[in-house]
Amino acid sequence: MNDRWIEVADRVWVRRVERLDQSLGLVVGDDCCLVIDTGITAEAGFAYATAIRELTDLPWQVAYTHDHFDHWFGTAAFGESAVWAVGDGAHYVAFGDEQRKAWASKFRLDGREEDARRIGGTRLVPPNCRVQGAIGLNLGGRTVVLRQVGLAHSDNDMVVEVPDAGVLFAGDILEHGAPPSYSSAYPIEWPQAVEFLLSWKPKVVVPGHGEPGDYWWARAQARDLAEVARLCTEVAQGFLTEDEAAAHGPFGPDSMREAIARWKALTPPAPEPAPRPDPALTPPPPVVVYEVFDYQVDLTR
Ligand SMILES: [Zn+2]
Repeated sequence: MNDRWIEVADRVWVRRVERLDQSLGLVVGDDCCLVIDTGITAEAGFAYATAIRELTDLPWQVAYTHDHFDHWFGTAAFGESAVWAVGDGAHYVAFGDEQRKAWASKFRLDGREEDARRIGGTRLVPPNCRVQGAIGLNLGGRTVVLRQVGLAHSDNDMVVEVPDAGVLFAGDILEHGAPPSYSSAYPIEWPQAVEFLLSWKPKVVVPGHGEPGDYWWARAQARDLAEVARLCTEVAQGFLTEDEAAAHGPFGPDSMREAIARWKALTPPAPEPAPRPDPALTPPPPVVVYEVFDYQVDLTR
């Protein structure tokens, strides 16, 4: 597959990228356009920016669906621009640096020197406009909504809604063709977040990876995410073993095990029961002496 454009609605585009099967977004208004995620490396971002310039020469703003490197390491190609995200700039710089080092050493260990050099040399572009709750962004003649999700695929997910076209850019909250990633997710809260986001019944739902789908596809995935949450809860209650849950997870055993491991990491361990006191060392209970007075007063005298 070569990288290609899909126009999913009037002036709403999805760039299907071969690497990681990514879906990047573009919404074009009368005055400017919004770029949703920028790709995995500076080179990928440059290729994406070039492809955008084939469609429009309007100025752009950028939105990050979340802080995973494959969604924002391409931003250096977009120059100075407004960059919207839920997480703040300091978080993006710190976490971006961590991911850059981790992936560079992983590629180096795998003998992929060129990839290691590329990702290691990425210039991080942190967001400069912060989204809390939801904001409407006027692109000229059309307004898109940037919406903070809460806890789902990560703790800083943001979706982009294009109400006039019925399109929802969901980031990695939904995935098509691959199981959703639970590595930094919130398995219990995730399905509720998706149900809320689908409550306006978007016609087209664009996942972070894989082909765009429709409302019913997204709804089915929300149901599967809810089943994962339920299996995690039943493991916690001792009703199911981890092996049983893994065998019946809707996204396959590996995803289910990843979800359980993540859920455990998020759940504080049960407090240790208080030690039983040693009777030999326990002081006896205090002896209380009651003085009982029993008398009658004859009020007739
Ligand atoms: Zn992600």
